[in-house]
Amino acid sequence: MKAWEKNFRKVEPYTPGEQPVFADMVKLNTNENPYPPSPKVAQAFALLGNQAGKCRLYPDFKAEVLVGALSDYYGLEKNQVFVGVGSDDVLSVAFLTFFNSDKPILFPDITYSFYDVWAQVYAIPYERPALDENFRIRREDYYRENGGIVIANPNAPTSIAEGLEFIEDIVRHNTESVVVVDEAYVDFGAQSALPLLEKYENLLVVQTFSKSRSMAGMRIGYAMGHPGLIQAMNDVKYSINSYTMNYPSLVLGTAAVEDEAYFKECCEKIIKTREWAREVLGRMGFSCLESSANFLFAAHGSVPAKKIFTALRERGIFVRYFDKPRIENYLRITVGTREQMERLFYALSEILR
Ligand SMILES: *Cc1c(COP(=O)(O)O)cnc(C)c1O
Repeated sequence: MKAWEKNFRKVEPYTPGEQPVFADMVKLNTNENPYPPSPKVAQAFALLGNQAGKCRLYPDFKAEVLVGALSDYYGLEKNQVFVGVGSDDVLSVAFLTFFNSDKPILFPDITYSFYDVWAQVYAIPYERPALDENFRIRREDYYRENGGIVIANPNAPTSIAEGLEFIEDIVRHNTESVVVVDEAYVDFGAQSALPLLEKYENLLVVQTFSKSRSMAGMRIGYAMGHPGLIQAMNDVKYSINSYTMNYPSLVLGTAAVEDEAYFKECCEKIIKTREWAREVLGRMGFSCLESSANFLFAAHGSVPAKKIFTALRERGIFVRYFDKPRIENYLRITVGTREQMERLFYALSEILR
């Protein structure tokens, strides 16, 4: 070992979902939206083509157009909104800003697998209370002393959402720490914790353009909370990299927020396809947890998930498989278009024959 290597900050990195590029593949492995972003985004994209000269200048570090569009949309003040490079960036800044206690932060044993990676890289102590046997969060696990709480709602990869009363109960029991609610999938039928912001200064709600707004490639996420929380996050952010939001993402993100009708229509389509797909999978011998997200978490009654995953992959159909305790017999299947789901079902009917 080289002398300097002893001083490296070592981490076990997060493993992102595979991003294969094959002609004619069916990509249902990273919960992207199967529909294109709003036509308003496409128009704004075309206009950007004439403005390459803008690259010369630094972007607005306050991201005011985008913060303004989001605060208008959600009926908040501008000082209640923080924007970042995907919600991964937003969550990472939140971890670094709020979780600086000797007490452990808490999040479920089965949840978004980036949380333990951030906790490790920032040397934040953490504990992971186990979900119950039905993969539900046990609220009592979050009544003890802690340095902060992170709840994904709907949870990933389980797809299960808890109601507003449940989230409020956790926030109310934790007035001494910051409670982060990661709502990456909230637009697919769950209740947002946003109405609680009026009552609780320690609540941070995080959302993203990657799933419901079809813009994973632009990398836009945001957090909403009390001005004190947002200010603290901005102070940390400006101490690392002030100019995180590039010019195109500011323009295109704003265009997306301004097309509510299209956004709602896409979410509705996905919810419809999800319910139909859940039924079809049920007839094929899968049990799917009840989903409030744009994916299904499914286990087959007799065939191991890993075997199905591999066989689908050979047919150019990508779903997500986690080789982890408790969930090693589940597949996480993104809800695609009806046509994509039909190709999945056809392949499954061959595999399960
Ligand atoms: C997809 C996802 C995110 C991050 O998405 P970004 O593309 O970085 O906005 C955050 N949390 C959960 C639970 C997710 O599934």
